Amino acid sequence: MSPGRPALSIRTRLTLWYTGILLVILVAIGALSYSWLRRTVHQDLDASLLAVARAIRDSGAAERPESEFELLLRDLLGPEMYDKFFRLLDPEGRPRAPGRPPRGNALPLSAGARARAARGESTLETLSGPGAEPLRVLTLPIVRTGRVVEIVQVGMSIRRAESLLDRYRHTLIVMIPLGVGLAALGGALIARAAFRPVDEMTRTARRISAEDLSRRVERPGTGDEMERLAETLNGMLARLEVAFAQTRRFAADAAHELRTPLAALRGGIEVALRAARAPEEYRRVLASSLEEVERLIRLAEDLLLLSRSSAGPEITRAPVDLEPLLLDIFDTAARLGQAAGVSVRIDTVTAATARGDATALRRAVLNLVENAVKYTPSGGKVELGLTTADGTAVIAVSDTGIGVPRADAERIFEAFVRLDTARARDTGGSGLGLAIARSIVIAHGGSIAVETGAGSRFTIRLPLAPPA
Ligand code: ADP
Repeated sequence: MSPGRPALSIRTRLTLWYTGILLVILVAIGALSYSWLRRTVHQDLDASLLAVARAIRDSGAAERPESEFELLLRDLLGPEMYDKFFRLLDPEGRPRAPGRPPRGNALPLSAGARARAARGESTLETLSGPGAEPLRVLTLPIVRTGRVVEIVQVGMSIRRAESLLDRYRHTLIVMIPLGVGLAALGGALIARAAFRPVDEMTRTARRISAEDLSRRVERPGTGDEMERLAETLNGMLARLEVAFAQTRRFAADAAHELRTPLAALRGGIEVALRAARAPEEYRRVLASSLEEVERLIRLAEDLLLLSRSSAGPEITRAPVDLEPLLLDIFDTAARLGQAAGVSVRIDTVTAATARGDATALRRAVLNLVENAVKYTPSGGKVELGLTTADGTAVIAVSDTGIGVPRADAERIFEAFVRLDTARARDTGGSGLGLAIARSIVIAHGGSIAVETGAGSRFTIRLPLAPPA
C-alpha cells in the first residue's frame, strides 16, 4: 500500500470488482447480440430478395400482358411490395419494356453487377448514395438454353432494418449502464449487510482491554464464516483471560512467597534489637536470618529459572545424550537417598538422544528426583528409568512415597502449588520445582505427567533427535 493513499475497504473493492466484471460481460453480450441480430436481419432481407427475384424469373412474368403482370406481382410480393423495387432489363442492361411504368427506375445497375450478370452470376449489393435511400439490391440473370435472356433486379430499402438495429443499439446503450448501476447499488447493499457482523466484532474487540477480558464478541448466529470468526475470537479471548489471570495469580503468589520469609526476618531482627542481648543470642538470630535469606535467594533463583525456561525459543538445540545425563543424576539421587534413608535404584536405561539444553533437561529431571526422595518416607524406594517408544524418549521417576491424589495430578505442575505445605516448607520447597520442570520439558517439545498409585510415577517424554 502506498503511503498517503487510504486503502479501499473490502466492501468497496468487492463492489467495484463485480460491477466491473458485470460491465464487461454485459458489453460483450450486447456487442455479440447486436452483431448477431444485424446478420440475421440482413440474411432475412437477402433471402426475401432472392425469393422475389426467383418468383419473378420462374413466373415468366415478363412475357405477360401488363395488367396481368401487375396482378401477378401483387400476388407474388404481397403488401410488402411497396417497400420493394424491381426492374427487368435486357442482357445489355437496358430497361426491357419501355412501355411499362417506370417502376424501379431508381435502381441503378453497377458495372460489376452487369459484368457478373453477363456471366450468368447473380449479385447482392448494398447501395447508398448521398441523399438517396439505402438499398439492398439483387441482380439475377435469367438464363435459358445457356444464354442470358433477361436480368431481374429486385431492391429493398434497408431503412427499416437499419432503424430497428439503431433502436436496439440505443436500448443497449441506455440499459447496460442502468443495469450495471442498479447491480452496483444492490451489490453495495449486500456487501454492507454481509460485513456488518465484522464491523460489530471490530467495535466490540476495540472496547475489550486487558482489564476487561471477560467480554466476548457477539455471535451473529448465522452458522457461517462470520460465526466461526466470532468463535475463534472468543476462544482467543478466553485463552488470553486465563493467561492474564494466571499472570496475576503468579504475581500475587510470588509476592506472598517473598513476604513470608521477609516477615520472619523482620520479626527476628526486631525482637533482637528490642533489648541488649548476649552474643550467643545475636548469633542465633543471625543464623536463622541467614536461613531465611538463603530461602529468599533460592526462591529468586527458581523464579529466574522459571521465567528463563518459559522463554522457550532461547533454548539451545544441541543433541543431548540422555543416558549419561541420567546416570549422572542417579549419582546425585543416590547421595540424596542415602541421607534420607531411601534406596535409589536404576531400572532400564536405553541409549537415547534428544535435542536441547542439557543443563535445563538435567534441572527438570533432578527436580523430579529431589521430590521423589523428599516425599518418600525413610525405608522407601526411588527408581529411575530411560526407555524409548514411538520416537520419544521416556524418562521415568517412580517412588513408593506419599503419592499424589488423582484430583491434584494436573494442579501440582502449577507454580507455588504445594499439597503438603507444612512438610514442603520444612524441606525448603518453593512450590516451583514441578512448574520449572514442566516449562523446560514443554520448551523442548515434550510432555510431563504423573501417575498415581502406590507412590507416584512421574514421566517426561521428549522427542528423539533425528539420526545424524
Ligand atoms: P515443592 O517445592 O513443594 O516440592 P514442587 O513444584 O516440586 O514444589 O511440587 C509441588 C507439590 O507436588 C509438592 O508440594 C508435593 O505436594 C507434590 N509432589 C511433588 N512430587 C511429589 C512426589 N514424588 N510424591 C508426592 N507428592 C509430590
